[in-house]
Amino acid sequence: MRFVTTRGGGRPLTFTEALLEGLAPDGGLYVPETIEPWTADEIARLPNRTLTEIGYRALRPYTKGELDATLFEALVVDALNFPVPLIEVEPGIFSLELFHGPTLAFKDVGARMMARLMASLDRGDRDLTVLAATSGDTGSAVAHAFHGVPHTRVIVLYPDGRVSPTQEAQLTMFNGESGNVRAYAVAGSFDDCHRLTREAFGDDALSSAARLTSANSVNVGRLLPQMVYYFHAVAQLGAPAGELLICTPSGNFGNLTAGLMARRAGLPVSRFVAATNANDVVPEYLERGVFTPRASVATIANAMDVGHPSNFERMLWLYGNDLQAMRRDIVGNRHGDAAVKATIRRVFDECGYLMDPHSAIAYLGLKQTLTGRQRGIFLSTAHPAKFREIVEPVIGTTIETPAPLAEALARPRHILRIPATLDALAVLLHV
Ligand SMILES: *Cc1c(COP(=O)(O)O)cnc(C)c1O
Repeated sequence: MRFVTTRGGGRPLTFTEALLEGLAPDGGLYVPETIEPWTADEIARLPNRTLTEIGYRALRPYTKGELDATLFEALVVDALNFPVPLIEVEPGIFSLELFHGPTLAFKDVGARMMARLMASLDRGDRDLTVLAATSGDTGSAVAHAFHGVPHTRVIVLYPDGRVSPTQEAQLTMFNGESGNVRAYAVAGSFDDCHRLTREAFGDDALSSAARLTSANSVNVGRLLPQMVYYFHAVAQLGAPAGELLICTPSGNFGNLTAGLMARRAGLPVSRFVAATNANDVVPEYLERGVFTPRASVATIANAMDVGHPSNFERMLWLYGNDLQAMRRDIVGNRHGDAAVKATIRRVFDECGYLMDPHSAIAYLGLKQTLTGRQRGIFLSTAHPAKFREIVEPVIGTTIETPAPLAEALARPRHILRIPATLDALAVLLHV
């Protein structure tokens, strides 16, 4: 399978090249040249398949010819080693729980697959160094995903004093081991962390000496694996019956884009709902036909505070810039903090089901769109315990700490501090 960029520049690449390059030189994003449809028979037999069987089937077309079938199968089994259950919250309304991985958020799926793909496909003679700046959650998904993966090491930069204590515990969890993952607290802001990684990537000597690569969320190796759980959701619903809507809580729109690609491959879904918080440039585009990126505004669903979503470019590519075609498949809506809190409360009281703010936006987006006898699935992207500061006051009770989080919090803290300079980072990269 060849990969091209959304802007049409350059020669087509192999999957390995697109994976290791991350961003395309023309500024576009890599996309597969074609999306092969599954046969009707394969779709009909989905309910008989396990998560990892579906993972293998969904992703095999993209790795064929580059990765041995048996190796790839083992890789999928190793990456998708946690359940992704579908829970009926109300009659006809289902939650797809994507938060049972090591960092309790859906980014574990893409990050774990990408880490293993990089380790298996890289033919370099020295370890790859993944360098990532984080404002919190993405960095810990990446750190946990690469932990213990051979031929790779990870350096995560986060702003000292500006992540939550829970986030810091998860980020620095491996600092006390002699392993391949280190997280450094940078004396500065998230923008400083980001600037440092840009400077390091821009320094050719440093970048090639350390074999730097990015684990950016736009990497096609993180995007494609997210198709898998859409098929797994439909598999768990059982035999198709009538119309189905799927609602994805969106920020950078990678998750939704993967769903759209799954549909192109034959996923039997009538329509997607793109639900956002106040950062609603995509719902606005769907309504008014104009795309106006702007500075992000802070909300209680902060992983979705994105004012200029990068994957919008992939959405336009999928629809050939045809707004009407996009409107047939996607409806957008946005939800404010007050409505989100009220919904968390109501669904907890009435159904005994607890949602984090991001998942609650997906629930709201679905509820607002479902009609008649349609069934609907909303994607639950984070465990409520990750956002306990918001959730506990809303429901008026404390919630249990899930095991992976308890383990991170129980470890002695090893905070490694560095100044916000390229020199300090270069020292770390050279060891
Ligand atoms: C990243 C994230 C999102 C948004 O996903 P995108 O693919 O960027 O649209 C939603 N919820 C949670 C919990 C996230 O971490």
